[in-house]
Amino acid sequence: MAHSRIVFLMYHELELPGRKLCQSDPGYVRYILPLDAFRKQMQWLRDSGFRGLHVSEALAYPGVPSVCITFDDGCETDLIAAAPLLREFGFHATFYVTAGFLDTSGYLSTQQLRELDSPGFEIGCHSMTHPYLSDLSDSELKREIADAKLKIEQALSHPIDHFSCPGGRYNQRVLAQAKQAGFKSVANSEFHANTARSSAYELGRIAMLRDMTIAQFAAICQGRGLWKKRLRHTTSRVIQRTLGNRTYDHLRATILGESH
Ligand SMILES: [Zn+2]
Repeated sequence: MAHSRIVFLMYHELELPGRKLCQSDPGYVRYILPLDAFRKQMQWLRDSGFRGLHVSEALAYPGVPSVCITFDDGCETDLIAAAPLLREFGFHATFYVTAGFLDTSGYLSTQQLRELDSPGFEIGCHSMTHPYLSDLSDSELKREIADAKLKIEQALSHPIDHFSCPGGRYNQRVLAQAKQAGFKSVANSEFHANTARSSAYELGRIAMLRDMTIAQFAAICQGRGLWKKRLRHTTSRVIQRTLGNRTYDHLRATILGESH
């Protein structure tokens, strides 16, 4: 079935007029969409007949034109900007929250998280403190995966089923710990669509970038040309693994003109 292939979209904080972002370095801001740009994308989806699903719905691969809408980090804009707009368009979404960021400036408070946890919206986990998981020891991984799950579950009083990897970094130890903790899926940021044959523990997602045009957004949602971007992405992953995460980030910061 042509539509049993679903592109998972990965969003972060949204930019609102007069509101300071949680972080300001260029490597962060390139993933931040102004609210108006996000609205234009949702408008395009609706005009084009797409449904917006959360992860649990997407994993059923319903066979109608759909995208899966996800947000990482747990910024306050999930509730105050994304949620009202998604409701307006009738779209569902999964919000992966960094457990240790709850109740800190710019991020969701526990009360706001409970408000966000409502019909059509699903809360997932995005680690405890947002480190690159592939760099961690087993005991550190337990805190970032199992303890983070428990913290969000305690706030919401129900199970949390889905996990996403900070910076998209993961390895087999990360996946083993996520399974052991009871997660039903793990999303990364590998550049590919998912199908019923994909492992639920290696869900690719496409990062939404600030400078993306509607034509580029449309191509992504329709799954056109993903292989070209994937090739570029795979190359950068190989460089990351070769250099190590720290050296890679330093190099990338230098190229993007970030100050350190
Ligand atoms: Zn993140």
